[in-house]
Amino acid sequence: MPAYRDLSKEELLEEKASLEAKFQEVKEKGMKLDMTRGKPSAAQLDLAMGMMDVLNSTSDLKCIEGVDCRNYGVLDGIREAKQLLADMTEVAPDNIIIYGNSSLNVMFDTVSRSMTHGVMGSTPWCKLDKVKFLCPVPGYDRHFKITEYFGIEMVNIPMTADGPDMDMVEKYVNEDPTVKGIWCVPKYSNPQGLTYSDETVRRFARLNPAAEDFRIYWDNAYGIHHLYDDKQDHLIEILMECKKEGHPDMVYKFCSTSKVSFPGSGVAAIAASEANLKYIRKHMTIQTIGHDKLNQLRHVRFFKDIHGMVEHMRKHADIIRPKFEAVLSSMEKNLEGLEIGSWIQPRGGYFISFDALPGCAKAIVAKAKEAGLVMTEAGATFPYGKDPEDSNIRIAPTFPTLDEVKTAMEIFILSVKLVSIDKILMEK
Ligand code: PMP
Repeated sequence: MPAYRDLSKEELLEEKASLEAKFQEVKEKGMKLDMTRGKPSAAQLDLAMGMMDVLNSTSDLKCIEGVDCRNYGVLDGIREAKQLLADMTEVAPDNIIIYGNSSLNVMFDTVSRSMTHGVMGSTPWCKLDKVKFLCPVPGYDRHFKITEYFGIEMVNIPMTADGPDMDMVEKYVNEDPTVKGIWCVPKYSNPQGLTYSDETVRRFARLNPAAEDFRIYWDNAYGIHHLYDDKQDHLIEILMECKKEGHPDMVYKFCSTSKVSFPGSGVAAIAASEANLKYIRKHMTIQTIGHDKLNQLRHVRFFKDIHGMVEHMRKHADIIRPKFEAVLSSMEKNLEGLEIGSWIQPRGGYFISFDALPGCAKAIVAKAKEAGLVMTEAGATFPYGKDPEDSNIRIAPTFPTLDEVKTAMEIFILSVKLVSIDKILMEK
């Protein structure tokens, strides 16, 4: 079929009638499909069930340093957990603090601490008239919620195929002292699945911030989440790069095992320079006596080392790859050439990002809901929930079964086509 825009009004109405009939048929099936969040499926969670067996009532529960993990002690993580998460994030164990069960929590804490106590001796942000964060868009909704919660002004930075628009980033960061941070998901980004190019990472490391308390919030949530063995993205390690450029303190790197072991019951960490970590530890001693060492031990005993983790991620990929491919092939088969949307083919991560014709995203998500498919709310991928183009939709294919993904895509495709036809008809 030619591009919808090139069809006559009559042809469009005919196509619409046939699509409406199909939509009605699907709707009558009364489906209930959830593609809202990037959650692993039960089959993925089953992969880590062995973790339930590695510790039992007869286990030796002492960590390498000889501390009894059942008791208080060890503020910033047992040594073997530091080694494992350091390898996962490609930094030295001395550059890691192990936290609790969620990296989002660590990010919240990091912003919260900067608000109340500042960053390594600088003025607490709550005492400043204005604080801004740069937000590459589309991006991760929960990042934006944190900065919104603290009243931090968010500035949209468009994403390109190489990462955020670095001309804009450099201009803001190097010239505006109210810019204190930037949210980054540098590898297999949420939602586009893009990885920052070498040049982008190098430009980040070469930033010359106007604010001494500016930090890059490098959320490497999908660092080891490849879909393919032979086609993997590569990301330059940012801590080392910043150090080389003489800005060792400019970055906080976050990670967790949420989508490696169990979301909500994984292990999270922050990696940063020794000066940053020293400052963070000062606050941590007030906040907690220590995090869950038994869970840290459980993770280390189960994965053993980074090689075990990488092997484990292959099993995840085997489960989710067909789902990603089902989404992509459905879009290629049904939408290619119609010029009513574009998408990116990721090599890892948890999402596929779809850009509809401007002004159509909310209507598409609402239409899909009529037929029982719940998707991430349109707009969620932008600060304040406002997509200026009303175009971006995040597709999260991991949680449903493969059959459900295929049915969900039928509904999605019909919704995209119907809403796009209405828009084009209005403009004719
Ligand atoms: N960062 C990104 C980019 C994510 O997509 C997610 C999960 N959706 C998180 C962080 C949350 O991680 P955690 O479970 O460690 O809080």
